[in-house]
Amino acid sequence: MSQGELMEEGKRQMRVCNACRYCEGFCAVWRAIEWRRDYRDADLAYFANLCHDCKECVFACPFAPPHEFGINPPRLFAALRQASYRKYVWPGPFARVFQGGWGFMWAVIGACILFSVISLVTQGRVFGAEGGLFYTVLSEAVLEAVFGALALWLVCGWGLGAWRFWRDIRTLDSSAVQVRDILQAVRYALSLRHLGGTKDEPLSRWRKWFHHGVFYGFLLDFASTCLAAYESHILHKQAPYPVASPVVLLGIIGGVGLLVGCAGLLYVKLGVNRDTVDEGAYQSGRAFLWSMLLVAASGLLLLLLRKTSVMGPVLVIHLSFVAALFFTAPYSKFGHFIYRCLALVRYAEEERMHRLSGH
Ligand code: SF4
Ligand code: SF4
Repeated sequence: MSQGELMEEGKRQMRVCNACRYCEGFCAVWRAIEWRRDYRDADLAYFANLCHDCKECVFACPFAPPHEFGINPPRLFAALRQASYRKYVWPGPFARVFQGGWGFMWAVIGACILFSVISLVTQGRVFGAEGGLFYTVLSEAVLEAVFGALALWLVCGWGLGAWRFWRDIRTLDSSAVQVRDILQAVRYALSLRHLGGTKDEPLSRWRKWFHHGVFYGFLLDFASTCLAAYESHILHKQAPYPVASPVVLLGIIGGVGLLVGCAGLLYVKLGVNRDTVDEGAYQSGRAFLWSMLLVAASGLLLLLLRKTSVMGPVLVIHLSFVAALFFTAPYSKFGHFIYRCLALVRYAEEERMHRLSGH
């Protein structure tokens, strides 16, 4: 289906839903639909990023396939979310290449070759490691240059995408966003209220808990990396750090959280009804979970093997997974939290305005 056909199909389904309104109260999406009489392309992107894909609506819908109306909101919104990631990301032309699993694998291979060549040129050997010291494989300056450039790429890709999306989903009559709107959106985001799943797919009840594992696991790993940078640059203590140090403990807890969360979400995906998913979004979601799982697993493996002779290759493989994750992040499902948070801020703002006007 082309972009134009997808938008037309989205508007058709929204008109049927707005006439029916059986699902009002299921989630934030339905109130946002009812607050409108007509739908712009940007409104569809807004609804799609509010949807948590719980499937309650489609299993309750009397107009779902095989009914001739063919109403299928979770499938529609999944396709619209993918389209919104492609539309708003910068730079856009690579989106189709890097949105799926093959894009990630090509990035891993590219990073592996790059790190091997750099190691050969700067250290005079490939994968050589001394005394468990990471910087004897790839120097601190090289790692700072590579990951500094990737951080800049990520900030530009996500930042421009967020700005374009926000500009589009607001309308001329939008009010100024208030601090309480942002706090309300943060509350909605952290509680993951509509990620609970549905009784029609028993495994989906676990989604929220596995998602917490991925989210908080990633935050702990990020905290571990920041603390390691502080120890290295401010306290001048070189990695590797003792197992009982906060850097390693945060890394282990975060890594296990990521591993369990990603494996759990991949398992939940096996039990979904494929008639309710968009195939492109389904594959892209799986690719993202595998990429996070590989980062976590290789990080824990590196910790186990850091004092052995294979530390060099394991370090290069782990860093390649991390670099590929960040390089593809503007295109992969990684960026969904940005669009979702912005949609929630917009929803909190609209909710306040409608409360004030008594609707
Ligand atoms: S999904 Fe079906 S039941 Fe729900 S509002 Fe739309 S048409 Fe009605
Ligand atoms: S799938 Fe769930 S979150 Fe998405 S629109 Fe339907 S009820 Fe709302």
